[in-house]
Amino acid sequence: MAAAIARAGDGIHRYPDMFAVDLHERLAARFGVTPRQVAVGGGSVAVLQHILTAYCQAGDEVVFAWRSFEAYPILTHIAGATPVMVPVTQDGRHDIDAMIAAVTDRTKVAMLCSPNNPTGPALTRDEFARFMAAVPTSVLVVLDEAYVEFVTDADAVAGLEEIPRHDNLLVLRTFSKAYGLAGARVGFALGSEALIAPVSACVTPFSVSSAAQAAALASLEPIAEQELLERVQQVVAERPRLRDGLRELGWEVPEAQGNFVWIPAGDRTVEIAVALAALEPAVLVRPFAGEGIRVTVGSTVENDAVLAAMASHRAA
Ligand code: PMP
Repeated sequence: MAAAIARAGDGIHRYPDMFAVDLHERLAARFGVTPRQVAVGGGSVAVLQHILTAYCQAGDEVVFAWRSFEAYPILTHIAGATPVMVPVTQDGRHDIDAMIAAVTDRTKVAMLCSPNNPTGPALTRDEFARFMAAVPTSVLVVLDEAYVEFVTDADAVAGLEEIPRHDNLLVLRTFSKAYGLAGARVGFALGSEALIAPVSACVTPFSVSSAAQAAALASLEPIAEQELLERVQQVVAERPRLRDGLRELGWEVPEAQGNFVWIPAGDRTVEIAVALAALEPAVLVRPFAGEGIRVTVGSTVENDAVLAAMASHRAA
């Protein structure tokens, strides 16, 4: 991937392929869709912004679970729409019944995040089916699968399988997590050609640089992809150990299906995060003040360090 970026550097004085044709074709072949069923942008966060720009107007509502990915309320506001945030359940899951109840005549888009960042659980097939059956097809459902490569739950919804079944579904994917290209900024949406066309029309011209396109294409080469997905397996293999170790300290850690676990530390969140950061070497975690801490699953040594550090911070 680094070599592909370096090669792209030689042509950096030229504009990139405006329509990222190769990348659309490669993604289409990889995921069994047509190139017109793919919209590529500068990270999935940018693609989501294009989706909301394409589908929302002032006064429209966007329903999503909360806590979830921080960009959802921000991008909803930028699109001029109103966020409707539905609290997740005690165990960090989407509250499907409450989300269904939150859908109104003004709802234009509903976001589903599976696995949910930062709480961890993936949506089950049943939860997804129940939501899709209850929500009018006039509501665009965006299934954000940023961390899908880390999912091991056999009951988890698989967005790609659902696309042919629903005319109101877009699946959001990224090269930032399992593919290790967060700095390159490439994400994409998959869905029916009819749903994708307005999204592609909103993509900022030339927003995916030549280096980013080259890196993404290189990561999809079978050898590279195999190596990347082997690294995913290492994370997945370590994940239950970190989760169970924290549970043994009394924390009600939800099911973890991404590359992170969630400690619902509540009022103690900041105090614990500050104490971990002060250690030598520092243990850096992501605090959400008053709510909890997201810990990235690291190497065995790093996870041991987290567990050792957390031994001084048991649940009350
Ligand atoms: N969706 C979710 C759920 C995320 O957690 C993130 C990044 N943290 C993104 C989308 C955006 O990723 P990117 O823009 O790097 O593709």
